[in-house]
Amino acid sequence: PVNDLHGHEVGDRVLHTIARRLETCVQEGELLARVGGDEFLFILPDLAQAHTQAAERAATLIEAISSPVSIGNIEVRLSTSIGISRFPEDGDTASALVHAADMAMLQVKQDGRAGYAYYSSAMDEQAQFTLSIERRLQSALEGHGLALHYQPIIALASGRIDGVEALIRLEDGVAPAVGPGVFIPIAESSGLISPIGQWVAREACRQQASWQDGGLPLNVSVNVSALQFRRSGFVDQVRGIIEATGIHPRHLVIELTETSLMENIEEAVGILHAIKALGVRIALDDFGTGYSSLSILSALPVDKLKIDQSFVRAIETDHASRAVIDAVIALANSLGLELVAEGIETEAALDYLRQRGCQLGQGYYFSRPLAPAQLLQWCSHQEGLHAV
Ligand code: C2E
Ligand code: MG
Ligand code: MG
Repeated sequence: PVNDLHGHEVGDRVLHTIARRLETCVQEGELLARVGGDEFLFILPDLAQAHTQAAERAATLIEAISSPVSIGNIEVRLSTSIGISRFPEDGDTASALVHAADMAMLQVKQDGRAGYAYYSSAMDEQAQFTLSIERRLQSALEGHGLALHYQPIIALASGRIDGVEALIRLEDGVAPAVGPGVFIPIAESSGLISPIGQWVAREACRQQASWQDGGLPLNVSVNVSALQFRRSGFVDQVRGIIEATGIHPRHLVIELTETSLMENIEEAVGILHAIKALGVRIALDDFGTGYSSLSILSALPVDKLKIDQSFVRAIETDHASRAVIDAVIALANSLGLELVAEGIETEAALDYLRQRGCQLGQGYYFSRPLAPAQLLQWCSHQEGLHAV
């Protein structure tokens, strides 16, 4: 980011300053090296109490780098992620030790940077698992290993189906089975979210158009990850899919989480307006779990709020959750937004939400997410609806 923001010359001078600061932390008999663009390696050969001493030294390095670097009138602030490996426990060759330190450093980065961590073998297992999921996603994309299941969304007053939420499944026949809660974050960190997201949007719209043609006009909600949403060309992509599949845009709902919008709000609002201009509707998913301020909410061009399952699940037991639900219902009403309650599992929860005037709901009480054929069956059992 320093290179991108201020140019390579400033980047070089920042590195120079950091190297000088690190040098002041080196003691007799130790080695400091720059091994990559912004990566440094310390070798501390003789620590009497390796565990505590390495941590102390790491803290000193973090401290040394944390004070701002001034280059001319530019001020740069940096954070440090340090991974620590020990000889001989974590490896008995140089490359094994460097690898172990790398894994520990990655862990620190994943946990939000600015800190240190000791290597543990669990990190290797985690990395192996992540890699295996990446490979499975890649081949699922190339073959036919991805599927969409659809969970009915019900109009609570009439009990009729209003639409469905498309939820991705990895159906590649490989053990262990993993759900989107696990593999979507991996897809996000590996860059696979973009082709996967495109596949989801295209498949969901294709499915909607085919239901529509068969006389079943369902709204279809599609989850979109923040990374996908922020990519330039996202709006064009959606427009292209609408044109290619012939879906009427008002039947398409895009679900975004509030946290994905909060970062760089102005940019997000711009994209949201462009999506709405296509005639597509927007829902804020998992509402109540992020920390969007109410003033921001009123500036967001969204159509629906989906109140998070955690509140709905606690309706019967937790007074505070009921209070949050009441407040969100009042908020949605006063902002003129539709409200969807997620995770309705019991009749009591349904009764409560219906009484309070929540319009829409989904959850195991009505149905789990279903494969397309099962969904048609489910619909045909619902009064007043005729499946193809
Ligand atoms: P979400 O969008 O909030 O989806 C609702 C999740 O709650 C789904 O889990 C659904 O199966 C589950 N659920 C629905 N009703 C109930 C209920 O009554 N009780 C309980 N305990 N759970 C219920 P799922 O399918 O495992 O998806 C998890 C998350 O993964 C989704 O949360 C969404 O954030 C993400 N996801 C799923 N499909 C996609 C996709 O195509 N693209 C992206 N970017 N994310 C997706
Ligand atoms: Mg959702
Ligand atoms: Mg949700």
